[in-house]
Amino acid sequence: MELTEITSLVRDNIRSLAPYSTARDEYDGPLGTYLDANENPFDNGHNRYPDPHQRRLKAVLSRVKGVPVENIFVGNGSDEAIDLVYRIFCEPGRDNVVSVAPSYGMYKVAAAINNVGFREVMLGEGYSFDREAMLAASDGNTKLAFLCSPNNPTGNLLDPAQVERFIREFPGITVLDEAYIDFAAHPGFLPRLGEFPRLVVLQTLSKAWGMAGLRLGLAFASPEIITFMSRVKYPYNINGPTQETVASLLESGVETRTATITGEREKLLARLAQMPAVEEVFPSDANFVLIRTPHPKALYNELIASGVIVRDRSGVPGCAGCLRITVGTPAQNKKLIGLLENFGNKTTAI
Ligand SMILES: *Cc1c(COP(=O)(O)O)cnc(C)c1O
Repeated sequence: MELTEITSLVRDNIRSLAPYSTARDEYDGPLGTYLDANENPFDNGHNRYPDPHQRRLKAVLSRVKGVPVENIFVGNGSDEAIDLVYRIFCEPGRDNVVSVAPSYGMYKVAAAINNVGFREVMLGEGYSFDREAMLAASDGNTKLAFLCSPNNPTGNLLDPAQVERFIREFPGITVLDEAYIDFAAHPGFLPRLGEFPRLVVLQTLSKAWGMAGLRLGLAFASPEIITFMSRVKYPYNINGPTQETVASLLESGVETRTATITGEREKLLARLAQMPAVEEVFPSDANFVLIRTPHPKALYNELIASGVIVRDRSGVPGCAGCLRITVGTPAQNKKLIGLLENFGNKTTAI
């Protein structure tokens, strides 16, 4: 059998997998008398299994995102999609992946869980994407490359021209995590998905869409990749209430809130740049800002003492002295600014 470019990258056992077929797969007609799934027949709103194919939800997502349903996978958070691409493409104990660093911690955790080698390539000057270093770090067993743009925790968009060249040049699957793309002044790669058969774009409803509690992550890719993801996932990976709530919340847009957050981010960046307690403010295309301070632990503790929790990234290689601060409501940001100013006055007085 002739293998396609995608199937030649897929693990042998996954390529030959006969997926679990659910009882509901065989019947597609109008409302029936369901005696096929050993459910409880008495209606309490939740007694039936949810749609394993998430048809209604995907139809809404398709409209909102402008992407055909056959290019969409929905998971229990982006983390499910991240774990799935490892399980589909990486042979444990043999294969490896490359990733930009510093970046989102789940890529590395999923590698460790799946016993897959994890090669980190540090971002360059100004946290820029070093395409050539990423390619140089990969070999014949490098199945996946993780890019995150805008990147967490640095906040910057990776140069789209470099990302595009990388996707074309890297022979494995590029996983481009666009969790924060709604906050960036760039459309990302979803509108051009069709040009890149080996690209998986990850997005999430946890950030701009404000649905972190519902757990819904999105993966967009060629139908061939999506088919493998759908075969390997748990049949009922998205529960009924989540499918329904997400489908209805997607109907009311979030543009106004997103604009408020990016506006607040710009104000925050400008204020932070003037503060004595802050040594460096990194540009941000996301809903958070990364700052470098001479006293990260002391500042972190000072904020905690006032009930303001930020993320201490000072122990992460490439982020020495850095705290990551999520953009909050105008009132929350004002409180943060007040505390930082206070701290600056104290430390400069020492
Ligand atoms: C927050 C975040 C996600 C979202 O994860 P979910 O599991 O969908 O909530 C994905 N990637 C990055 C880089 C993130 O920062």
